[in-house]
Amino acid sequence: MIVFKFGGTSVGSAENMKKVAAIINDCNEKKIVVLSAVSGTTNSLVQINDYLALHKKEDALFLIDKLENSYYQLIKELYNLTNYHTKAKLFIENKFKEIRSLANEPIKNDKIILAQGEIISTNLFQLYLTEIEKDSLLISALDFMSIDAHEEPEQGNIKAKLNKVLNDNNYQTYITQGFICLNANNEIDNLKRGGSDYTASLIGAAVNAEEIQIWTDIDGMHNNDPRFVDNTFPIDEISFDEAAELAYFGAKILHPQSIIPAQKNNIPVLLKNTFNPTAKGTLIKNCNNSIGVRAIAAKDGIIAIKIKSYRMLMAYGFLKNVFEVFEKYQTPIDMITTSEIAVSLTIDNPKYLKEIIEDLNTFGNVEYDVDMSIVCLAGNFSHSGKGISAAVLNCLTDVPIRMISYGGSQYNISLLIEKNDKIKALNLLNQGLFAESIPHAV
Ligand code: ASP
Ligand code: MG
Repeated sequence: MIVFKFGGTSVGSAENMKKVAAIINDCNEKKIVVLSAVSGTTNSLVQINDYLALHKKEDALFLIDKLENSYYQLIKELYNLTNYHTKAKLFIENKFKEIRSLANEPIKNDKIILAQGEIISTNLFQLYLTEIEKDSLLISALDFMSIDAHEEPEQGNIKAKLNKVLNDNNYQTYITQGFICLNANNEIDNLKRGGSDYTASLIGAAVNAEEIQIWTDIDGMHNNDPRFVDNTFPIDEISFDEAAELAYFGAKILHPQSIIPAQKNNIPVLLKNTFNPTAKGTLIKNCNNSIGVRAIAAKDGIIAIKIKSYRMLMAYGFLKNVFEVFEKYQTPIDMITTSEIAVSLTIDNPKYLKEIIEDLNTFGNVEYDVDMSIVCLAGNFSHSGKGISAAVLNCLTDVPIRMISYGGSQYNISLLIEKNDKIKALNLLNQGLFAESIPHAV
């Protein structure tokens, strides 16, 4: 079994949905196809919910009308045969009637409203497959995808329920919704924004798939951020550990959590481009990659906090007290470096910065810098490989570095710099570390 997942842009128009159909029809194996909502739809549904929460019903209804009309345009272009167009039109009319009545109820229906995006995209797509005479079965994610009271996926239940659905109905192609699920109270819920990748990975694990293919709009994971750096290139192969290090650092191609079920079950994840299907893409798998830097990513909006205290000298328990402050304000720490009399760490959530600084002031002298960026180098940095950190730092002789983290994991070197230096640093690293791999590099 192969699991395919197509993101919002891949199903973002009639033309793109046809591309998706061609891609899956090209594969003769048994498959489950997970779809996101049509691009822009989930954002609109979030906005509709926001208006409803603010009692701005007129604005919500206006947006609902606008969204509904966008689907009439899509179905006009998607179906050739009148009876399919009529069916789709009826479906959209009923769906939006339902959304309007949910919006008009006095109770909060936000999660049910949010779920409609994926329900619409999968229904329209499956109807299109029927029109082109490709046999498939639409299975509702709500029949098998569930989270527990801690919002964690119930992997055992998902496996049992999904396999039952598949055994009861023998098809070559199944279509289902990403993102949506039932929660511990049996209510409609979701796996958080961008969660369709997670759905695909959970399904892959549940059916022990041969491969999970995540189709988006770029040619796989790039070795550096193409928005800021020229001469980036897609990586052919990367290990799960390296990919996991990159996912947090804005390598937005894959939802960070989605790597875990695939890695645990040793299912390769292939990242592909719907708009350039012949491009090789990036294969993420359990592998011992050669030593060296595989890819670079950066994350902005980082705050660096330094606590300096002579009480730290030779003392134990100091870091525990520091960490407790962050626990109290539920603020995750990302990077950390220590010396004998000071500790520097970074956070990316400024919500309780004032309170955190106040509390930390009781331990010593506290300074903080905002608008910093973390540059993350992912690769295999096993300590037996010599010269990698020297090569990295050599590229950056012109860039002031505030913190360096090396050795936390074998797969990551992180550097903290000022955001203003980020583009320069990414380019210098690209030239210094990848020159040989860059096609036609000068
Ligand atoms: N439609 C959802 C979102 O936009 C889930 C996804 O696309 O992954 O967040
Ligand atoms: Mg996504």
